[in-house]
Amino acid sequence: MFSNKKIKEVLKKARTIWSLDHASSLMGWDLEVNMPKEGVSERGIAASEIAVLRQKLLLDGELSKLLDEASKENLNDYEKGLVRVLRREIRIARALPPDLVQELTRITQEARIAWREAKYKDDYERFEPYLEKIVELEKKVAEYLGYEKHPYDALLDLYEEGLTTDDVEKIFSVLESGVRKVLSRVLEESRFPREHELENVRYDVESMKRLNMRILEIFGYPLGARARLDISSHPFTTHMGIRDVRITTRYEGFDFKRSLFGAIHEFGHALYELQIDEGLMATPLANGVSLGIHESQSRFWENMIGRSKPFVNGIYKTLVENLSFLKERSPDDLYLYFNSVKPSLIRTEADEVTYNLHILVRFRLELRMIEGDVKMGELPAVWDDLMDELLGIRPKSYRDGVLQDIHWSMGSIGYFPTYTIGNVVSAQIRHHMLKDMPDLHDKVNKLDFNEVRRYLREKIHKWGSTYAPKELLMRSFGEEINPGPFMRYLEEKYLKG
Ligand code: MG
Repeated sequence: MFSNKKIKEVLKKARTIWSLDHASSLMGWDLEVNMPKEGVSERGIAASEIAVLRQKLLLDGELSKLLDEASKENLNDYEKGLVRVLRREIRIARALPPDLVQELTRITQEARIAWREAKYKDDYERFEPYLEKIVELEKKVAEYLGYEKHPYDALLDLYEEGLTTDDVEKIFSVLESGVRKVLSRVLEESRFPREHELENVRYDVESMKRLNMRILEIFGYPLGARARLDISSHPFTTHMGIRDVRITTRYEGFDFKRSLFGAIHEFGHALYELQIDEGLMATPLANGVSLGIHESQSRFWENMIGRSKPFVNGIYKTLVENLSFLKERSPDDLYLYFNSVKPSLIRTEADEVTYNLHILVRFRLELRMIEGDVKMGELPAVWDDLMDELLGIRPKSYRDGVLQDIHWSMGSIGYFPTYTIGNVVSAQIRHHMLKDMPDLHDKVNKLDFNEVRRYLREKIHKWGSTYAPKELLMRSFGEEINPGPFMRYLEEKYLKG
């Protein structure tokens, strides 16, 4: 994969950086899953020292020189990808003055604590000055990074390489009206319930663990050999490399679909990392290419597979075997439980019909914040109005409104649209998979996922970060990001299915 002499020198330097990332990932996982509480202060010291060391290695003049020289040579796609990924990282690191980065680190650390308190006490004013400062700093970040059309482009690009405000506007111009039409008909026809009794039914945690393990096994998750499943309050995926990938889910003791779909969602993220080409091992290309493409993988397994009728029918026996309270429930009943639809206030609990409207609220607000078009004091009211306009409900507290997400307190402005990219791309993948594999539903019903995994590996996973997101979609499916298949999927499932 890598034969150029200069590239081999680049890889040698990059391997040290990769090793630090390997250690940081492991430390991050340990912090969430294993670490005794008071270990946090020393872990903080170690983590920030490693971050400083990594920055030094990344900004090493020798590495940049090698990359410049290599870029002038005749490179294959992997080699070009390596140059692209490292140069992009270096460009971003160089663009931002250390003072600004430091200030942002300090303020977001304080802001996270303030946000938690503000949310707990339902007191927006407690958080407002931090948000004001963060927006001001993020505007500076955008200016230093540079952009062609809109400062928000610079922030989007941090999370989704090459994504622009225009791209997101174009996607939402289709989704906004389309989704609202589907939603109002679903609510009118009430074939899909707004709520389901099973949401209140308690489960035995040990049985639920066994069920999650069993389903992951059926999907082909290499538990024990190259992968783990653990517990954390917010499910997440982390990877130390291609052969050590770990996911978590939660066990709240009721409404078992939350634990189940937490595990399935994270499995989708994990499979991406697990199926990266072994030839890319321990290089900067051994990473999913972007947040949006990553989320397309988790949403594909969670929604397109996990919430589909063929899957519910296929997995029914396994569900009943592990959760005895399901004995009286039919597969159709479980299908409805997995797919209830209602406008709700909280994004993380939203169904697949309403989810993107939650993202649209945040996208609109972030644009206005970055444009300086909204005062921070007005933000809660603007939030509530947007929720009312798009979803037809108004939050009664800040907690259920403007204070619900952690993202802004972390300075992650520009992150939310990647969730919608994930939803949209997952439906594009489904569309192409069905064309190339007409018996997909049958395979899913038989719980035979070999071909599905192979398809995802060939089209997406094996490349790691070799191609930028837009190029990857163009090469694998011959198209750009396109919300059409997502809308057709919703209509087919919720209006005709
Ligand atoms: Mg995810």
